[in-house]
Amino acid sequence: MGVDINRSEKIQFASDNCSCMCPEAARALMEANRGPACAYGDDPWTERAADAVREFFGTDCEVFFVCNGTAANSLALASLCRPYHSVICHELAHIETDECGGPEFFTGGTKILTIPGRMGRIDLDAAEKMVNRRSDIHFPKPRALSITQPTEVGTLYTVEQLRAIGDFARSYDLRIHMDGARFANALAALSVHPSEISWKAGVDVLCFGGTKNGMAFGEAVIFFNREYAQEFSYRCKQGGQLVSKMRFLAAPWSMMLDDGSMLKNAEKANRAAIVLEKKIRYLPVLEIVYPREVNSVFIAMPAEIAAAMKGRGWHFYDFIGTGHSRFMCSWETTEEDIDDLVRDFREEVVRYQSGNR
Ligand SMILES: *Cc1c(COP(=O)(O)O)cnc(C)c1O
Repeated sequence: MGVDINRSEKIQFASDNCSCMCPEAARALMEANRGPACAYGDDPWTERAADAVREFFGTDCEVFFVCNGTAANSLALASLCRPYHSVICHELAHIETDECGGPEFFTGGTKILTIPGRMGRIDLDAAEKMVNRRSDIHFPKPRALSITQPTEVGTLYTVEQLRAIGDFARSYDLRIHMDGARFANALAALSVHPSEISWKAGVDVLCFGGTKNGMAFGEAVIFFNREYAQEFSYRCKQGGQLVSKMRFLAAPWSMMLDDGSMLKNAEKANRAAIVLEKKIRYLPVLEIVYPREVNSVFIAMPAEIAAAMKGRGWHFYDFIGTGHSRFMCSWETTEEDIDDLVRDFREEVVRYQSGNR
């Protein structure tokens, strides 16, 4: 009965969204599974989850729950921008590289303008150049700055860096969107209050990811600047994101914020990546390419070794645009998973070295 799981498939480092639901999220689903409730978010679980988010951030924000990060980002940007506006983001940003034009589609034409920046962080000088590049009516007017925390290459913006971005955005009347698909990992790594890296730094809207941190699905779209939340539920409905059984999307949020598992999961994932990083550093030939700050380790390796590891069944992403491979830990990554990976790496490194002698 059921699906046969092939335990020899080595998927655990491909992405943190390959993980299971955590026990707390699963329990929340079962607890919301008691008798009928009003549909479309008009239920006590959704109300409680939105309150839990407000308590977590310590501010009276507007909260919506959608199915995934692409929808969260696209709809959030649509609420910040008009079709003749533009959004400035890093060239590796998920909204640019991995959302199939969702932001452009849902904004109805807002152009994405990409800028470079070291270590996955936007460079404010480049942002300033972009803002000032044109001021005539023939160019889409920059209206928003989108940043990813942690970044696509697993680095963090510090509180100070975020404040500087906030000051910059204010000086040019740009609104700030934060893609926080792994926001909990950033919080756990920085050990700061959630407000410090969100609204206190000037973030107008945060897309807070649940999926990669142990939920089955679901991201929270959080408007710290409530003005931009106006009519957002219509956008959600039109975009197919007003889930009728909303309580199942919402319930894990209150459960995991209230009992601390949101941060606990992120800490576990971050800690696993620390262990992985340490063990990889012992091996010759392999090179760690970005500072490990959250739950990913990026490795540069000879193509032969990458191919051999894939031949051994390991799944991992050759990261788009950087030429490196990404190994991602999740809340459920075990010491044993790490040892299995490192053992295979060690054998391939030895083989590679003897072949090149
Ligand atoms: C995973 C991820 C998302 C969300 O992706 P979906 O597959 O649409 O849920 C958004 N931004 C970043 C940086 C991500 O890593």
